[in-house]
Amino acid sequence: MVEIMDGIHSFDFSESKNHGMELWFLDCPEGVVLVDTGMGDEVLGMVEAELGSLGKGWGDVKIVLITHRHGDHVRNLAKVKALTGAPIYCQAEEVPAIKEQTGVEPEGLAHGANLPYCGGIEVIHVPGHTEGNCSYLLKERGILIAGDTIFGDEEGNINEPPEKYCVDVEQATRELERLLAYDFNALIYTHGKDILTGAKAKVEALVERTR
Ligand SMILES: [Zn+2]
Repeated sequence: MVEIMDGIHSFDFSESKNHGMELWFLDCPEGVVLVDTGMGDEVLGMVEAELGSLGKGWGDVKIVLITHRHGDHVRNLAKVKALTGAPIYCQAEEVPAIKEQTGVEPEGLAHGANLPYCGGIEVIHVPGHTEGNCSYLLKERGILIAGDTIFGDEEGNINEPPEKYCVDVEQATRELERLLAYDFNALIYTHGKDILTGAKAKVEALVERTR
């Protein structure tokens, strides 16, 4: 069972298989939106099996959204491009690094750009973890897909990303405040237990605590 909310399918490809490392697909009326690619063939098999259980396949993936350039998010990108043929997007500042690492050049999106899937997906640029790190907001559903903008633990306690994984941890921490301009109830992120309700209050508390 990987459908964590209606139409939101989550895949944990960490060794522990316990909310350690996630990617997602969104089963939207317009088609399937894949968010990040993970690394290794095993996770691609998991995604393919889940698509199959919905009577779908890689060809139903209409767009691929990348949160940022780190390997656990992009290492399967060339394979995903070949499997889906879908356009690939990331925040504009992340394009060169992703191209260099994967050989695939995504289309760059500006902060505030909107994609017409699942009631509208807005790009929120939150630099600091990497230069072009971003989160994606499902506006109609109030679901924030934070990627590595936020880290957490198995109990759902959330924090700024660890310094050792950031190009500029002070910026990554300071810019968390950007998230407070948006309405969301659920917070889905890569490393830690997803928060399915009441998430904005937790992010507000994090911003307050780290100010
Ligand atoms: Zn990262």
